[in-house]
Amino acid sequence: MQRIILLGLVIAVLASCGRKEREDTVTVDAVRAQFGFASDVVPICGSDSILGKRIPDVGQASPNPGCGFNDAVRVYAVSGIELSPPARMQCRTARITNSWARNHIQPEAISRGDAIVTAHVAADYSCRTRNHKKGARLSEHAKGTAIDIKAFTFASGKRLSVLDNWRGEGGRMMQALFRASCRIWHTAIGPEGDRYHLDHFHFDAARAYGPGGYCR
Ligand SMILES: [Zn+2]
Repeated sequence: MQRIILLGLVIAVLASCGRKEREDTVTVDAVRAQFGFASDVVPICGSDSILGKRIPDVGQASPNPGCGFNDAVRVYAVSGIELSPPARMQCRTARITNSWARNHIQPEAISRGDAIVTAHVAADYSCRTRNHKKGARLSEHAKGTAIDIKAFTFASGKRLSVLDNWRGEGGRMMQALFRASCRIWHTAIGPEGDRYHLDHFHFDAARAYGPGGYCR
Protein backbone atom coordinates (compact mmCIF):
# COMPACT_ATOMS: atom_id res chain seq x y z
CA MET A 1 0.00 0.00 0.00
CA GLN A 2 2.77 2.41 1.02
CA ARG A 3 4.69 1.56 -2.12
CA ILE A 4 1.66 2.39 -4.28
CA ILE A 5 1.21 5.76 -2.55
CA LEU A 6 4.90 6.52 -3.01
CA LEU A 7 4.73 5.56 -6.70
CA GLY A 8 1.69 7.78 -7.15
CA LEU A 9 3.55 10.65 -5.51
CA VAL A 10 6.59 10.21 -7.77
CA ILE A 11 4.38 10.18 -10.87
CA ALA A 12 2.53 13.30 -9.71
CA VAL A 13 5.80 15.15 -9.06
CA LEU A 14 7.26 14.12 -12.43
CA ALA A 15 4.08 15.14 -14.23
CA SER A 16 3.99 18.53 -12.54
CA CYS A 17 7.68 19.14 -13.36
CA GLY A 18 7.05 18.53 -17.06
CA ARG A 19 4.03 20.78 -17.03
CA LYS A 20 5.84 23.59 -15.25
CA GLU A 21 8.68 23.62 -17.74
CA ARG A 22 6.29 23.76 -20.66
CA GLU A 23 4.24 26.56 -19.09
CA ASP A 24 7.38 28.65 -18.46
CA THR A 25 8.51 28.22 -22.06
CA VAL A 26 5.09 29.18 -23.36
CA THR A 27 5.07 32.26 -21.12
CA VAL A 28 8.51 33.43 -22.23
CA ASP A 29 7.53 33.02 -25.91
CA ALA A 30 4.17 34.70 -25.35
CA VAL A 31 5.70 37.75 -23.63
CA ARG A 32 8.37 38.01 -26.33
CA ALA A 33 5.69 37.89 -29.05
CA GLN A 34 3.36 40.32 -27.24
CA PHE A 35 5.98 43.06 -27.06
CA GLY A 36 7.92 42.20 -30.21
CA PHE A 37 11.18 41.40 -28.39
CA ALA A 38 14.00 39.93 -30.47
CA SER A 39 15.13 36.37 -29.82
CA ASP A 40 18.18 37.59 -27.87
CA VAL A 41 15.87 38.90 -25.12
CA VAL A 42 15.98 35.91 -22.82
CA PRO A 43 15.32 34.89 -19.20
CA ILE A 44 18.02 36.46 -16.98
CA CYS A 45 19.00 36.70 -13.32
CA GLY A 46 17.88 33.13 -12.69
CA SER A 47 14.21 33.75 -13.38
CA ASP A 48 11.98 32.91 -16.32
CA SER A 49 9.88 35.93 -15.33
CA ILE A 50 12.70 38.42 -15.98
CA LEU A 51 13.38 38.96 -19.68
CA GLY A 52 16.33 40.99 -20.87
CA LYS A 53 19.97 40.91 -21.81
CA ARG A 54 23.19 40.61 -19.87
CA ILE A 55 25.33 43.69 -20.56
CA PRO A 56 28.96 44.53 -19.75
CA ASP A 57 29.65 46.10 -16.35
CA VAL A 58 28.23 49.61 -16.37
CA GLY A 59 30.08 52.85 -15.65
CA GLN A 60 33.64 51.52 -15.56
CA ALA A 61 34.94 54.57 -17.43
CA SER A 62 32.91 57.11 -15.46
CA PRO A 63 34.86 59.98 -13.88
CA ASN A 64 33.37 59.31 -10.45
CA PRO A 65 34.68 56.05 -8.95
CA GLY A 66 31.44 55.66 -6.99
CA CYS A 67 29.44 55.25 -10.19
CA GLY A 68 28.77 51.99 -12.00
CA PHE A 69 27.98 48.40 -11.09
CA ASN A 70 28.68 44.75 -11.91
CA ASP A 71 26.20 41.95 -12.58
CA ALA A 72 24.56 44.30 -15.07
CA VAL A 73 21.48 43.61 -17.14
CA ARG A 74 19.07 45.49 -19.37
CA VAL A 75 15.55 44.47 -18.34
CA TYR A 76 12.77 44.37 -20.96
CA ALA A 77 9.94 42.77 -18.97
CA VAL A 78 9.17 41.51 -15.47
CA SER A 79 6.34 39.05 -14.81
CA GLY A 80 4.67 39.99 -18.09
CA ILE A 81 4.93 43.77 -17.56
CA GLU A 82 7.01 45.54 -20.20
CA LEU A 83 9.60 48.11 -19.07
CA SER A 84 9.69 50.81 -21.74
CA PRO A 85 12.35 51.72 -22.58
CA PRO A 86 14.28 48.74 -21.15
CA ALA A 87 16.15 49.62 -17.95
CA ARG A 88 19.74 48.98 -16.88
CA MET A 89 20.22 47.70 -13.35
CA GLN A 90 21.93 45.12 -11.16
CA CYS A 91 20.48 41.61 -11.18
CA ARG A 92 19.56 42.07 -7.53
CA THR A 93 17.48 45.11 -8.49
CA ALA A 94 15.95 43.17 -11.40
CA ARG A 95 14.73 40.51 -8.97
CA ILE A 96 13.17 43.17 -6.74
CA THR A 97 11.58 44.80 -9.81
CA ASN A 98 10.15 41.42 -10.74
CA SER A 99 8.68 40.91 -7.28
CA TRP A 100 7.32 44.49 -7.37
CA ALA A 101 5.49 43.66 -10.60
CA ARG A 102 4.25 40.22 -9.68
CA ASN A 103 3.41 40.52 -5.99
CA HIS A 104 2.61 44.19 -5.49
CA ILE A 105 1.55 46.44 -8.40
CA GLN A 106 -0.11 43.86 -10.68
CA PRO A 107 -2.37 42.37 -7.96
CA GLU A 108 -3.23 45.93 -6.87
CA ALA A 109 -4.15 46.98 -10.43
CA ILE A 110 -6.19 43.84 -11.05
CA SER A 111 -8.08 44.27 -7.79
CA ARG A 112 -9.08 47.70 -9.15
CA GLY A 113 -10.35 46.28 -12.42
CA ASP A 114 -7.45 46.68 -14.84
CA ALA A 115 -4.06 45.05 -15.47
CA ILE A 116 -0.74 46.76 -16.10
CA VAL A 117 0.77 46.03 -19.52
CA THR A 118 3.63 48.53 -19.63
CA ALA A 119 5.55 50.54 -17.04
CA HIS A 120 7.07 53.61 -18.69
CA VAL A 121 10.61 54.24 -17.47
CA ALA A 122 11.82 57.81 -16.96
CA ALA A 123 15.35 56.97 -15.77
CA ASP A 124 17.63 54.07 -14.95
CA TYR A 125 21.44 54.20 -14.58
CA SER A 126 22.89 57.67 -14.41
CA CYS A 127 26.22 58.79 -12.93
CA ARG A 128 24.94 61.75 -10.93
CA THR A 129 24.14 63.12 -7.52
CA ARG A 130 20.73 63.10 -5.85
CA ASN A 131 18.25 65.35 -7.67
CA HIS A 132 21.18 66.51 -9.86
CA LYS A 133 22.33 68.81 -7.04
CA LYS A 134 25.99 69.79 -7.04
CA GLY A 135 27.84 68.41 -4.03
CA ALA A 136 24.99 66.14 -2.94
CA ARG A 137 25.45 62.41 -2.28
CA LEU A 138 25.56 60.02 -5.21
CA SER A 139 22.13 58.95 -6.38
CA GLU A 140 21.09 55.30 -6.23
CA HIS A 141 20.76 55.73 -10.01
CA ALA A 142 24.56 55.77 -10.13
CA LYS A 143 24.69 52.26 -8.64
CA GLY A 144 22.10 50.34 -10.67
CA THR A 145 19.70 50.09 -7.76
CA ALA A 146 17.06 52.61 -8.85
CA ILE A 147 14.34 53.02 -11.44
CA ASP A 148 12.05 55.97 -12.17
CA ILE A 149 8.53 55.31 -13.52
CA LYS A 150 6.51 58.07 -15.17
CA ALA A 151 3.38 56.25 -16.37
CA PHE A 152 1.56 52.94 -16.76
CA THR A 153 -0.41 51.59 -19.71
CA PHE A 154 -3.20 49.15 -18.83
CA ALA A 155 -4.95 46.27 -20.58
CA SER A 156 -7.98 48.52 -21.11
CA GLY A 157 -5.77 50.77 -23.26
CA LYS A 158 -5.78 53.51 -20.63
CA ARG A 159 -2.50 55.30 -19.88
CA LEU A 160 -2.06 57.03 -16.53
CA SER A 161 0.91 59.30 -15.86
CA VAL A 162 2.29 60.55 -12.57
CA LEU A 163 2.20 64.13 -13.85
CA ASP A 164 -1.40 64.16 -15.12
CA ASN A 165 -3.17 61.50 -13.06
CA TRP A 166 -1.81 61.64 -9.51
CA ARG A 167 -4.88 63.69 -8.65
CA GLY A 168 -8.31 63.56 -10.29
CA GLU A 169 -9.06 60.93 -12.89
CA GLY A 170 -7.01 57.81 -12.28
CA GLY A 171 -5.64 59.24 -9.06
CA ARG A 172 -6.92 56.41 -6.91
CA MET A 173 -5.23 53.83 -9.11
CA MET A 174 -1.93 55.76 -9.24
CA GLN A 175 -1.90 56.38 -5.50
CA ALA A 176 -2.73 52.73 -4.80
CA LEU A 177 0.10 51.60 -7.09
CA PHE A 178 2.52 53.94 -5.31
CA ARG A 179 1.47 52.67 -1.88
CA ALA A 180 1.82 49.06 -3.08
CA SER A 181 5.34 49.89 -4.30
CA CYS A 182 6.33 51.06 -0.82
CA ARG A 183 5.88 47.48 0.39
CA ILE A 184 8.85 46.24 -1.62
CA TRP A 185 11.27 49.09 -2.38
CA HIS A 186 13.56 50.52 0.26
CA THR A 187 12.80 54.06 -0.93
CA ALA A 188 9.73 55.26 -2.81
CA ILE A 189 9.29 58.96 -3.64
CA GLY A 190 6.31 60.41 -5.51
CA PRO A 191 4.64 63.79 -6.07
CA GLU A 192 4.04 64.25 -2.36
CA GLY A 193 7.68 63.58 -1.52
CA ASP A 194 9.24 66.73 -2.97
CA ARG A 195 9.19 69.05 -5.98
CA TYR A 196 11.64 66.82 -7.89
CA HIS A 197 9.10 64.01 -8.14
CA LEU A 198 5.99 65.67 -9.56
CA ASP A 199 6.23 63.71 -12.82
CA HIS A 200 7.66 60.34 -11.78
CA PHE A 201 7.93 57.75 -9.03
CA HIS A 202 11.46 57.07 -7.81
CA PHE A 203 12.05 53.55 -6.48
CA ASP A 204 15.32 52.19 -5.16
CA ALA A 205 16.72 49.27 -3.28
CA ALA A 206 19.41 51.18 -1.45
CA ARG A 207 19.94 48.64 1.30
CA ALA A 208 18.91 45.06 1.86
CA TYR A 209 15.86 43.69 0.11
CA GLY A 210 12.86 44.76 2.10
CA PRO A 211 10.21 47.36 2.52
CA GLY A 212 9.78 50.72 3.99
CA GLY A 213 12.91 52.84 4.34
CA TYR A 214 11.07 55.86 3.01
CA CYS A 215 7.63 56.17 1.41
CA ARG A 216 6.28 59.53 0.46
ZN1 LIG B 1 14.97 58.29 -9.32
